[in-house]
Amino acid sequence: MVPMSSPVAELASPAVIAKYEPVVGLEVHVQLATASKIFCGCPTVFGAPPNTNVCPVCLGLPGALPVLSREAVEMVMRVGIALNCTIRPLSRFARKNYFYPDLPKGYQISQYDEPIAEHGWVDIIVDGARKRIGITRVHMEDDAGKSVHEGFSDSGRYSYVDLNRSGTPLAEIVTEPDMRSSDEAYAFLIELKQIMQFVEVSACDMEKGQLRCDANVSVRLKGAEKFGTKAEVKNLNSFRFLKMALDYEIARQVAVIESGGRVEQETRLYDPDRGETSGMRSREQAPDYRYFPEPDLVPLRISEEWRERVRAAMPEMPSKKRARFVADYKLAEYDADWLTANRAVSEYFEEVGSVNARWIYSCTLVKLDCSKF
Ligand code: ADP
Ligand code: ZN
Ligand code: MG
Repeated sequence: MVPMSSPVAELASPAVIAKYEPVVGLEVHVQLATASKIFCGCPTVFGAPPNTNVCPVCLGLPGALPVLSREAVEMVMRVGIALNCTIRPLSRFARKNYFYPDLPKGYQISQYDEPIAEHGWVDIIVDGARKRIGITRVHMEDDAGKSVHEGFSDSGRYSYVDLNRSGTPLAEIVTEPDMRSSDEAYAFLIELKQIMQFVEVSACDMEKGQLRCDANVSVRLKGAEKFGTKAEVKNLNSFRFLKMALDYEIARQVAVIESGGRVEQETRLYDPDRGETSGMRSREQAPDYRYFPEPDLVPLRISEEWRERVRAAMPEMPSKKRARFVADYKLAEYDADWLTANRAVSEYFEEVGSVNARWIYSCTLVKLDCSKF
């Protein structure tokens, strides 16, 4: 019998991989939990019968005009503030043009060189050490619909399009290339999800596509100054896949370099069944989105007064709360982690502060286990 070996081990030994330093930057889409879509009044509920939550705007019918949702703007302001970004007093929408069957307008309304928020950071803790990850920008855009390739009797021949999701508001969060391992990327995404949940902009359920992550990764010899050529890895549908895909891609790039080759700049797809990434399109095949300012929307102005009103309504961030729980309640870091993992639990704990932390902690464990069934 052939022994099962991991795809990573087949590429390069741990000793060879250890000669290199990975560099990772993430691009994360967070679906905002607004009641209605970003440019029309259609509801955003998940799981409605196909093509029932649609109107001329989100169907991209000629002549229909977008109207920006205030709720979506405030939510993305909360995202920006939670990630320690500067909120721009003036930001602009831009058209990102491409053809796809689930994109009826033929373009996404996004933001380009003047995003709503930029220059932020998030602190993560990996192996007991604190590390700051830079946030390049946060911008708003509308989600596309969904192509459905499976589940119909004629799925072998046809695909279907469901436009219920078309026009759902997204915040796209782009990080600096500041992460140096798959563990750091994993820790960042966990922290980000927690922050998003705390500020109540999204449940970040990856299975429902509320949190989607693309990973940019390159490797360089330890001590080298210049970054290596990066590949962008897509189709990371879970936290575990992010880590596994990065470990694979890091080993693959190391193997290419070690065998005298050069890493190509390309977009790669992760295949969770095989545990491998494979080339999807090269740099030459990368789409040219022909961005231009969105003519149907005026620039977005955010007054200082509006910004500060949103800031004043922000809850305490998880990292602050964690540190405060350790200091105020003399908790172990481990217990404080558990008690702040969920905002409701953390607030419950503070309300019944006299109760033993361990007890609430065991309750959350039981609850987590039950939710798996
Ligand atoms: P592009 O021009 O391909 O859009 P950007 O410079 O805008 O590239 O960066 C996109 C993402 O890739 C960001 O998250 C950034 O942190 C990350 N990134 C940029 N260069 C590298 C690199 N050499 N290695 C890993 N990640 C990188
Ligand atoms: Zn609509
Ligand atoms: Mg870019």
